[in-house]
Amino acid sequence: MSQPAKPAPPAGRANAKKELSEHFKQYKHVWVFVEQERGHVHPVSWELMGSGRRLADKLGVELAAVVIGPAGEATSAAAAESFCYGADLAYIVADDVLTDYRNESYTKALTDLVNTYKPEILLLGATTLGRDLAGAVATTLLTGLTADCTELEVDADNSLAATRPTFGGSLLCTIYTLNFRPQMATVRPRVMEMPERVEKPVGRIIEFPLGMVEDDIVTKILAFVPDRDKATSNLAYADIVVAGGMGLNSLENFQLVRQLAGVLGAEYGCSRPLVQKGWVSADRQIGQTGKTIRPKLYIAAGISGAIQHRVGVDGADLIVAINTDKNAPIFDFAHLAIVTDAIRLLPALTEAFRKRLS
Ligand code: FAD
Repeated sequence: MSQPAKPAPPAGRANAKKELSEHFKQYKHVWVFVEQERGHVHPVSWELMGSGRRLADKLGVELAAVVIGPAGEATSAAAAESFCYGADLAYIVADDVLTDYRNESYTKALTDLVNTYKPEILLLGATTLGRDLAGAVATTLLTGLTADCTELEVDADNSLAATRPTFGGSLLCTIYTLNFRPQMATVRPRVMEMPERVEKPVGRIIEFPLGMVEDDIVTKILAFVPDRDKATSNLAYADIVVAGGMGLNSLENFQLVRQLAGVLGAEYGCSRPLVQKGWVSADRQIGQTGKTIRPKLYIAAGISGAIQHRVGVDGADLIVAINTDKNAPIFDFAHLAIVTDAIRLLPALTEAFRKRLS
């Protein structure tokens, strides 16, 4: 996508701009924060590594992974894995104080690293952890952060053009961090494509001390209680997703979506109004303010296809839409359009697949 022209600075600020560009020369390379919790790396980290690699190649600089976690194998393994997804080097801050995510310790680790090695671009996943960390790091460093980007580019003067939806998703805006470094951005899971994993020997590793002890941290972790629903819901990464919208008319009818998903071994999701009605948990919402999905097959039943829903499903390989209205917006982007009553079709589909797959 071609980027809109950036505003020129007022003439009186030309000298300041020159000083700034001298200052910016200290900042080099693209960094990706590798999010890991209890030995599990969030796949958004590797998706960002793909974007980071592309930006680094355009800028002619290195791509670095930043791995923060407890001392031990899981943290080293995450760093080693980052090379398979394109990192040239990995910064590791390993300390048992970092076993579980806490804003204070992770913010210190990341801001100290940035202040020492000065990256020009820093990318994080727009996950619960990533959003919390990115905001704290950006405010501590006094730099700009563009959240929930859908596109990242490098423009003619090598600055980061971070594009994200605005005005309720009806427009896209491109945001620049003109006066501060690093340029920070978060991207939601599944928005960027997963790069191919290529087996590679371990690259350069730079270890960095945390410089903090447990007593310095106000927040204490008393227990770790896994989120049971989260453990079973894999909506963003599912191969098949069946979703329902207001066309289903009731919570009872929404069970038809769950039944079809069950037979197909799929995840189920919904449009936003169903969450607002309290019929389905927010974790299942698909779209701009919900999850972005990239399944091989997406079946949308009784969903109109508003732009805020569409942005969450555009990456699906095959979109099958069931809607009674032949002019519903979802038919503008669905690959297969079925104009019928979803409440009647869903049970028939479930039955047909049950017979076929049993
Ligand atoms: P409706 O718009 O009411 O559409 C129902 C559809 O069902 C219609 O097309 C109708 O023809 C069809 N229908 C009716 N009966 C049947 C039947 N028996 N069988 C088959 N079809 C039938 N929405 C999201 O989904 N995700 C988001 O993340 C999201 N974020 C938003 C963020 C903002 C800032 C705003 C302002 C809005 C957001 N929305 C989001 C809401 C979005 O604008 C739409 O209002 C919403 O997606 C509509 O949901 P729906 O298609 O289920 O309902």
